[in-house]
Amino acid sequence: MKHEFKLLIDGQSRDGVTTFDVVNPATGETFAQCPKADAAQLEEAVAAARRAFPAWAATPVEERAALVVALADALEARAAEFASLLTSEQGKPLDQAMYEIMGSVFTLRAFAAMRVEPKVLREEGGNSVVEHRTPLGVVGAITPWNFPVILLMNKLGPALVTGNCVVAKPAPTTPLTTLLFGELARDILPAGVFNVLCDQNELGPLLTGHPDIAKIAFTGSTATGKKVMAAAADSVKRVTLELGGNDAAIVLDDVNPQAVARKVYQGAMANAGQICVAIKRAYVPSSMYDEFCDELAKLANEAVVDDGSKQGATIGPVQNKMQFEKVVSLLDSARAEGTVLAGGAPLDRPGYFIPPTIVRDLDDDAPLVREEQFGPVLPVLQYDDIEDVIARANDSDYGLGGTVWGRDVARATEVAKRIDTGTVWVNQHLAIDANIPFRGSKQSGIGGELGEAGLLEYTQAHIINAVPLED
Ligand code: NAD
Repeated sequence: MKHEFKLLIDGQSRDGVTTFDVVNPATGETFAQCPKADAAQLEEAVAAARRAFPAWAATPVEERAALVVALADALEARAAEFASLLTSEQGKPLDQAMYEIMGSVFTLRAFAAMRVEPKVLREEGGNSVVEHRTPLGVVGAITPWNFPVILLMNKLGPALVTGNCVVAKPAPTTPLTTLLFGELARDILPAGVFNVLCDQNELGPLLTGHPDIAKIAFTGSTATGKKVMAAAADSVKRVTLELGGNDAAIVLDDVNPQAVARKVYQGAMANAGQICVAIKRAYVPSSMYDEFCDELAKLANEAVVDDGSKQGATIGPVQNKMQFEKVVSLLDSARAEGTVLAGGAPLDRPGYFIPPTIVRDLDDDAPLVREEQFGPVLPVLQYDDIEDVIARANDSDYGLGGTVWGRDVARATEVAKRIDTGTVWVNQHLAIDANIPFRGSKQSGIGGELGEAGLLEYTQAHIINAVPLED
C-alpha cells in the first residue's frame, strides 16, 4: 500500500488543502503525492509553535537534549526506509542516501551533547555581569533539494537543544523525507514544537515575512537568500543564510596528478555535483594539465550513471527538470567555447541524467567557470603562477569553500589562508561535521551553522548586570 504523507501541525498529522506530484528524477515519473499547505495552515503552525514555546523553553536542557537523542534513535532505527525514500525523491545512489541519513543521526546526537553555559563577564567590587543565552522563539527552517534531510538536522538540532520551536518547509521537489521525519517527531516531541509544511514555493515569503517568527534558518540559492534577507528586514528577524558557492580546487605542482585527479573528481561529482561545496572549477599547473585532464576524463568514462536505486550506480540523475535544463544550457555553451573530454550531453533515456563531464580550455569568463553549475560538470583550467591562480580563485562573488592539494602541507596551507571563503580544505574534501562551524563569506551567506557557533545562532545574548543596592 502506498504511504500517505501528511503535514505536521500542532502535533497532528494533517492533510493539506490539496496535493501535488512528487517526481522520481531517475524516471521523470510521479511516484507519490505531497500534501500542500495553504496560508491558513501556515498561520496554524506558527500559532502552535508560539503556544508551545514558553513550556519548551522552560523545559530543562537535559530533557530537551534527551528528546533530540530520541529523534536520532528513531531515525537510525528506520534508516534504510529513509535512505530508500531519499533516493526516490532526490536521485542520489542508495549508499550516498544512507550516508546522508547516518550523517543526520550523527548531527542530532552531536547537538544533543552541546550546551550553552552562562558566561561571567565581570565579578568585581560587587558588580556582577553575566551573559545568559535565551532561545529566540519560533524558527522557520527552509531547506533546498540537494540534502533535504541533513540540512534540516543542521537547523533542528541546535534550535531544539537551545529551546526554540520550529516550522520546517522543505523544497517542493524533495518534501517526503521531511514529512516522514515529521511522523517520527509527532510521537516524540510535545505538540507544536516541530511543524512541517509543504508548498510549491508559495509559503517561503509568508514565513520570512511573518511577525511571529523570530529567525529564518535558510539554505538555498543566493538569489532566494537575497529575497529572504529583504523580507526579514521588516521585523528585524535573525537570519542564517547558507547560500551558493563556486568552489575552486587549486592543485599545486608537487602532487602526483593521477592520485589527486581521483580526489578532485570525487569532490566534483559526488551527489551528481549538487553540493554547495562541490569542487566547481579546478586549477591545475600547466606542467601536468594534460595528464590531469586525461585522468579526470578516464574516471568520468568509468562512472556508472544510473537510477540511484540500482546496485552499483555511482552517479544518479540531476534532481529536477529546472536544474537539468540549467546544466544542459551550461553544457551547450561549454561545448562551443571549450574542449569536452568526457560526457557533454544528457543521456537519451527518461529521467534527468547527465553523465560526468570534463571540460578543458575554457576562459575564466565562460559561464561554466563563472556560474554555479550545480551538476556533474567540471571545468579544468591551467595556471603557471601561484599569485595568478590565487587571484583567479578569489575572483568570484561567492565565498563558500575550496580545496588546496599539495604534498608540502605547510605550503598548501599558506595558499589556503589566502582563499577568501568560509572553509578551505587541504588535501581532503567535504570534511564537514556537526562539531566544526561552517559558514560562507561574500554572497555565499551570513551567519553560520554547526559547531558551538552554530548553536549560539539560535540564542539571544541576555546580559544581567547587577550591583548591590546602596541606601
Ligand atoms: P532555492 O533557493 O531555489 O530554494 C531553497 C528553498 O527556498 C526551497 O525550500 C524553496 O521552496 C524556498 N523558497 C523559494 N522562494 C522563496 C522565497 N521567496 N522566500 C523564502 N523561501 C523561498 O535553492 P535550491 O535550488 O533548492 O538549492 C540549491 C542551492 O542551494 C544552490 O545554490 C546551493 O549551492 C545552495 N546550497 C547551499 C548550502 C550551504 O550550506 N551554503 C547547502 C546546500 C545547498
